[in-house]
Order: sequence, then C-alpha cells, then structure tokens
Amino acid sequence: MNLSHIEHIGIAVKSLQEAIPFWEEKLGIPCYKIEEVEEQKVRTAFFKIGASKIELLESTDPEGPIGKFIEKRGEGIHHLALAVSNIQEQLDELESKDVVLIDKKPRKGAEGLDIAFLHPKSTHGILLELCEDNQNK
Ligand code: ZN
Repeated sequence: MNLSHIEHIGIAVKSLQEAIPFWEEKLGIPCYKIEEVEEQKVRTAFFKIGASKIELLESTDPEGPIGKFIEKRGEGIHHLALAVSNIQEQLDELESKDVVLIDKKPRKGAEGLDIAFLHPKSTHGILLELCEDNQNK
C-alpha cells in the first residue's frame, strides 16, 4: 500500500445548515465548498485542516446511505478516507489479501476524486475509503 495521508473524515449530520456554523464560528474554519453527490444521495460541505479535510454529509434522501446511517446511529463519524496512489492496484492487492471490498472498481466521489470503500467487516468496524486525485495528471 502507498498511503500518503488522511484525505478526509466523513461526518454524518442531519443538517448542513445547522452543522456548518459549528465549524465556521466555533472552530474558525471556513467551509470552502458545498457539493451534491447525487449518486450517494448526499450534500457535502468541506473544510480544510492542513493536508486533511472534514467532509460533512447531509442526506438528500432518507433511503440513501447517510439517511439510513443517521436513522440507525444518529449523527457522528461515518467514514475515514485515506489518500492513495494507483487506487485500482491497491484494491486488487487488498482483495488478494482477502479484504472485503464494497467497490472493486473506483468511482467518482465528491471533489472529482476516484474513491472506493472497504467493507467494515474487514476493517474492525470502520468504513474505510480510499481516494486518489487523478484530476491534475
Ligand atoms: Zn468520503
């Protein structure tokens, strides 16, 4: 594996409008982007902390993954995303090591990144996302 840094931490919130002021006003970090990812049925808000980001996730559909997560567990940390290069190679390598993948092929996530999720049953309980930024290559 060639992990470079924590790309972002994804946090499920009921309402971006209600959650953003905590980060902006209490912690003093401006939200630099709000983006809807239709395929995932979420609206996302991004904050930068050094090389890492915070990604707030608001569900746009109660049947979407974030809608279901909040219904079951309430607001809170939803996933951890690690930056990698050659994401397809990493996925193939993990699969060869019997790690259960949710995505065998990367797909497009927020911010134009190529992303893929690993199954929590292989990671001791956390939803782990790999991401690669191929936009400037
Ligand atoms: Zn993410």
